[in-house]
Amino acid sequence: MHMGSQIHATLNEYAGILLEHIPAGVALFDARDFCLLAANQRFYHFIQTHLDASRESDTLIGHPLAEWLPAADAAEAAALVALFRTVSETGLPYQAEEYAVRLPNRNLVYWNWSLHPVPDEQGHTIHLALYGRDVTASVLARHQVEEAHVSLTRLHTTTVAARQQLKVIETVARSARASLDTRSIGQAAVDAISASLQPLRLSLHVADPRQQALRLLCLSSTQARDAGLPSLEYISYDSPLIAAQARKGYDPILVENVQDVVASGMLPGDLPLLTPDMRGFICIPLWLKDHFEGTLSASFPEPVHPHGPEVQTLLGCSPHLTAALAHARLHAAVEDERARLRAILDQLPEGILLVEAADGTINYANAAAAAILGLPLHDLVGTTFHQHAQGNAHDDTPSRHALPWNFVVIRALCGETASGQETVVWQPDGSTLSILSSSAPLRNQEGVITGALLVFQDITAQKRLEHEKNAFLSLASHELRTPITAIMGFAEILQLSAEQEQRLNPASQRALLAQIVAQSDHLTRLIEEMFDLTRLENAQLSLHCDWHDLLAMLNEVIASQNITAHGQSIQLVVQGCAATEPVRGYFDEQRIRQIMNNLISNAVKYSPTGSSIEVGLQCTSESPEEALLWVRDHGIGIPAHELPLIFERFHRASNLDQAMSGLGLGLYLVKELVARHAGRVWVESVEGQGSIFYVLLPLQRKA
Ligand code: ADP
Repeated sequence: MHMGSQIHATLNEYAGILLEHIPAGVALFDARDFCLLAANQRFYHFIQTHLDASRESDTLIGHPLAEWLPAADAAEAAALVALFRTVSETGLPYQAEEYAVRLPNRNLVYWNWSLHPVPDEQGHTIHLALYGRDVTASVLARHQVEEAHVSLTRLHTTTVAARQQLKVIETVARSARASLDTRSIGQAAVDAISASLQPLRLSLHVADPRQQALRLLCLSSTQARDAGLPSLEYISYDSPLIAAQARKGYDPILVENVQDVVASGMLPGDLPLLTPDMRGFICIPLWLKDHFEGTLSASFPEPVHPHGPEVQTLLGCSPHLTAALAHARLHAAVEDERARLRAILDQLPEGILLVEAADGTINYANAAAAAILGLPLHDLVGTTFHQHAQGNAHDDTPSRHALPWNFVVIRALCGETASGQETVVWQPDGSTLSILSSSAPLRNQEGVITGALLVFQDITAQKRLEHEKNAFLSLASHELRTPITAIMGFAEILQLSAEQEQRLNPASQRALLAQIVAQSDHLTRLIEEMFDLTRLENAQLSLHCDWHDLLAMLNEVIASQNITAHGQSIQLVVQGCAATEPVRGYFDEQRIRQIMNNLISNAVKYSPTGSSIEVGLQCTSESPEEALLWVRDHGIGIPAHELPLIFERFHRASNLDQAMSGLGLGLYLVKELVARHAGRVWVESVEGQGSIFYVLLPLQRKA
């Protein structure tokens, strides 16, 4: 106790010193009028710097607070006075943390201050003690730390966003490098961008210049009601949609806030695809040099900014997507070209084989090649060419021989170019074809032989024709010479008899002259046949049709044939109509006469003397529009296997006697002339027994 009062006495003694050295401003106010009663230097100093540097401490002491507070900030002064009053009235202390005070030089200082009620012995607040400490330095230091933190946080956010953008771009670039399929590249891009930016809708369209439209490649949409919006499948170049307009320029189209633009009237509010939740919109036209490849469009629920992550990410992805689309376009163009070339090769009538130099594999053969070699296409492509030796392709016996076309391939693989070489192909069924082959080595850019190209043409038909023509020429010269020799022989006999005055008797003379006339007729017929053949081949044979009596014509033909027949009797049989009534028909009388003459003279030629020949005509009321004609003989007949060939030109059956003259043209002309009358000809024959040739002839005039 003694000790305590001693300390108290010592404190009183040093209170002044303590108050002056305490690192805080201390002041005592009257609790009723808020007059400043006492303060330490630090308080004065603060008030002076805060208010007015020239203000002396004696103008403060004894003066109420309201008087010396700065008048400029009346509201703040009033608030302070109110605060003092509250503390005085309530007896509760007030504490202010980091109270900011603006100095006349505009700088801010911060104070932590508190106002404490000082009660008298009855507990009434008689004084107010203010205690204030300048915390400006620590506040400013903290502010600096906070600012540094804010800018660091901002930097971090930007870095994270940039990293995120790079990740998306990297994903798109990687998928573009790893895949050739544009759809999967597009989908990877759309997925990566969507996951990072959360757009309302993101679409990648490919330009389709042929359709004059943008075709949807990939879409990502979070809008559940997309089904109700116009389809994005095809956007015509004429469409009012921004994506369609984007192709008119190279620059991206950026609408920071669609709703603002609509509100300002610059865009119509009824734009297709515009939804109330849509804010930002970006559309990037994808150009590769001067080629418009497509568009990348995205809409967002928040506004977008030119330097924002949305624009930056989409712009970062766009070169990769452009490259992928261009690549797909060029690839498709090459594929198209390849398919076209392949279609051309597939359709060519010439056989084409491509053989690999490395192992002799046939890596391409067209249908014509397969047909000429007599193998199914799948037995040819993928096999090696030397597998196709004579005999079975799957038979590896040593007796197999390489086929002639194998040598052509080998020569091409050795670098030799050959054209127009005639060779023979043995088909698996044993038949042979004549082919004309050309071959050439295929070289790569370095000139190394990588394969062989073999082109071959089936010239069997031409060969056969050539052969037939040669045979025909020798036959024709022989056939023409025979009547000429006979005519000359008979003429010489007549001439000699006239010169030597050993006149032949009139009967012999008549017989010789009759022979000359008959041989001349034969010669004329041969020459006419040849002319007709030429006319037919040159499409110059025309009919001169009119109404004629078929029955009368037949009677005339039979009468004249009976005169020249070799002892055969030629009879007319009429069925289905009266033999005395005319049978009217619309035909070329000369040509139908020629047809019947041909058939009857063949019957005469190929049947024995004394046999009978029947010429028939059937004309029924059931089918008055046509007549059936036939010529039946009991001659040598035609071998069954040759029946299908008998109407072909130059074909003469194998059962003929050498002495039986003819060019093998008569039946061919019959068939062609009947066909021109829209009729039909056929034969029934048994070798050694005889033949019947039928002609079905339309009688009506065709419209
Ligand atoms: P060709 O001048 O040889 O008679 P065609 O074209 O008239 O020529 O006849 C072709 C071939 O048809 C004849 O060579 C013959 O082999 C056969 N042929 C035609 N008519 C008869 C027939 N009535 N009887 C037997 N064979 C016939």
